Amino acid sequence: MHRHIWEQYHGKIPTGKVIHHKDGNKKNNEISNLECLTYKEHNSLHSKDRQVWNRGISAKTNKKWRDTIKKAHKSRAIHFIPIFEETYNLKQEGVKVSEIAKIKGISREQVYTRIKRYKEIIGQEKTE
Ligand SMILES: [Zn+2]
Repeated sequence: MHRHIWEQYHGKIPTGKVIHHKDGNKKNNEISNLECLTYKEHNSLHSKDRQVWNRGISAKTNKKWRDTIKKAHKSRAIHFIPIFEETYNLKQEGVKVSEIAKIKGISREQVYTRIKRYKEIIGQEKTE
């Protein structure tokens, strides 16, 4: 949907680009909220989310999220989170599974597995 909106204004999305929601709200498809990025740019932008994982527990973090982080540290899943998370974010931004598989050099099945694992880790819900 948001990819379609972006294309209405700017023309076809170049291959290898992601349409990112600047405010993180995937439902806000205002053209001003959409940004066309390379996969690399997109990933480094989302690394802010990752700092939450690494920093772990801040005062702002709610209890459920704190427990999730603690559990991830304990099971050492924390090391895989950046890998799973990047795949998850690309899917969230509407990139096709076959395209993600190609970018990451993995099979489509592995893409689904990474997304599944990430959802398990975050318990679907990620709020700060
Ligand atoms: Zn994004």
